[in-house]
Parts: sequence; C-alpha cells; structure tokens
Amino acid sequence: MKIPQADLRAQYHTIKEEVTAAIADVIENTQFVRGPRSKQFEQAFAKYCETGFAVGVANGTDALMLALRAVGIKAGDEVITSAFTFTATGEAVHWVGGKNVFVDIDPENYAIDASKIEAAITERTRAIIPVHLYGHPADMDAILAIAKKYDLKVIEDAAQAHGARYKGKRVGSFGNVASFSFYPGKNLGAYGDAGGIVTNDPKVADAVRMLGDHGSAKKYENDVMGFNSRLDGIQGAVLGVKLNHLDEWNQRRREITTFYSDAFKDIPAIQTPKESSWAESVYHLYVIQVDHRDQVKQKLNEAGIGAAIHYPRPLHLQKCYGFMGLGAGSFPVAERAGERVLSLPNYPEMTEEMLEYVVAAVKKVLSV
Ligand SMILES: *Cc1c(COP(=O)(O)O)cnc(C)c1O
Repeated sequence: MKIPQADLRAQYHTIKEEVTAAIADVIENTQFVRGPRSKQFEQAFAKYCETGFAVGVANGTDALMLALRAVGIKAGDEVITSAFTFTATGEAVHWVGGKNVFVDIDPENYAIDASKIEAAITERTRAIIPVHLYGHPADMDAILAIAKKYDLKVIEDAAQAHGARYKGKRVGSFGNVASFSFYPGKNLGAYGDAGGIVTNDPKVADAVRMLGDHGSAKKYENDVMGFNSRLDGIQGAVLGVKLNHLDEWNQRRREITTFYSDAFKDIPAIQTPKESSWAESVYHLYVIQVDHRDQVKQKLNEAGIGAAIHYPRPLHLQKCYGFMGLGAGSFPVAERAGERVLSLPNYPEMTEEMLEYVVAAVKKVLSV
C-alpha cells in the first residue's frame, strides 16, 4: 500500500463538479483578481471565523507581513514569537524590519509557552505572534493578559488552524488580527498560493486591503507605498467551495487522530499528541515523538508511508537566523521537538484500511 502524507487528488475527486464549475465561472466572467467570488469567500470566511472582516491576499506569508504593518509594526520593533514554527513567521517579522524575539514552546502542545513570554519583553517589544501549530490553539487567555499588561499587539498565526477552537471560540477571533495561509496542503487550501487575514477591527481590515492593492483605496490614488498581494479570483472560487466542507474534513482529521492515539496508547515508545484542556485542535498534522526518529521515518517511508518531519530544526538554529547568535541550548523544548517529531499521514480521505496499515507499520518498525 502507498499512503502519502496528504492526498489532494483524493480530495479533489470528492468535490470535482462543484469546484470545476466555480473555476469555469471565474474564467467565463474574467474575474481573475479579487472579484465577486473572492469577495463572497471573504465574507463567508469572516463569518466562519466569528470575526467582523476578512481580507484575501496572495499567500500566508504576505498575510502575516501585511497584518504586522496594519497594526503598526515598524523597523526596530521587537516581536515575540515561537522558536518552533514554519520559517514564514520569522520571515514576516524580519521583512517588516522588526526584530524576532523567540520564546520556547509548551512541551504538550507545541505552541508558544505563555509562562516564558514576560521574561522576553523589553521596552521595544510591540507585539506577540502566537502560532497555532499543527492546528492546536495556543493559550490565548494567558497571551492576551500579557499583551494587555504591556500594551502589545497580538497577531495570531493561524496558518495551520482553520476552524480550531479555543474555549469554544474560533482561533483568529482573539488577537488584533490573525493571518491564514490557504496553501494547497493546509486544512483549507486553494489550488495555488493564497492567504488572508481576519479581524474585528475595520481599520486593520481596510489597511490590509489597501496595502495589498498598491497602497490604493481608490483606483490610481496611491496614498501609501503598498504591495501587490491580492486574492486571485480562481483561488477565491476554490476556497468558497471548499469552505463548505471544512468542518466535515476537520472532524475527520479528529477521528483519525483518535484512531491513531487509541492504537498507540499503551506504547511508551510513542508520545502521542495531547490536546490542552482549552483546545479543540483541527490536527493539521498528526505529530508523534519517538527516539531514533530519522530511522523510524526512513523505515516507514520504505513501507510506502509518507511520514514526514515538521520541523527538523527550530528557527534559531536555521542558517538564515544565524545572525541572531542563538546557539544550541537556547530553547531546549523546541530543540528536543526538532529531534523527535514525526508526522504520520492524516488527511480526511484516509480509509480505515489505510489507518490500520499505518498503525501496523509503526508498531512493526518500533518492534512493539
Ligand atoms: C504555511 C505557513 C505560513 C505561510 O503560509 P504561505 O501561504 O506558505 O505563505 C505561515 N505560518 C505557518 C505556521 C505556516 O504553516
């Protein structure tokens, strides 16, 4: 059997008619950039996230960069974020001229360890970016309390967490603004690059919309230096169709998680993912921890299973962040995770037979 890490073709086949009709409609009406389908999607996504506004942009990295700019982050400002995330989080801070200040992660849920944030605050700190990694929400109440005390902005990086809930409310609705990626492999993915922000602040929504359209709110009137970062019409159409299926897909990811975690529950060699008391995760990834991770991964790959690593190295140990001068030992929880995490296939179209196969292979590789 061959079981990839994700299978976008299998998903496409479940929505083929709807999605091809939506794409054809965009082409027929030549609404290639923004346009009505993108607008409809923005409205539906804002509602889905329980926020007032959504603005589509070109990708999730731009969503973060424009969100940072829209809340006023500028050169020299310090922004606190997690050492263990996809590099885009740190890139966005860097390219708005900000300074990344990393904090270690919570060993249970891989999000920023809120109890370590205050020690990282200086007089130049302006914002916190909690990342809801793997679809699991960060501890927002603790983060918001710190933000309030020190007058900091909060930008949620929700790129992996479309639909996740913190204490019953959708992620994205807690910070001043939240960014999402609609990269094809995300829980809600386009058929190309796409991203967006959600917010309850109309000024932030307007700022992102204007910045992403060459700093222009009115055609050919350019008030500020902007960027070209708009939601493509075809991507808006695809996302509009897929949003209607998201809850059902997320539910299936949760079922798969339960299946795996039940199967592995009496195996001490496997650390299964934990859901914090406040969280309803959407399990963008199903991530276990094991010793000898690289060998385990290789053997699973040889058995036809697309086990993968997200992420092998925390940001402070990546070459491009080397100028920060943070060596090994700076963030022990993140570093240990980098050595031990392993993502097993978890996508909604997996069958019971496939799940059984993965479980059997993992047990065999670990000889348990
Ligand atoms: C995917 C991702 C991004 C960036 O999104 P792109 O659409 O690829 O630019 C940012 N942050 C996290 C945590 C991500 O997983």
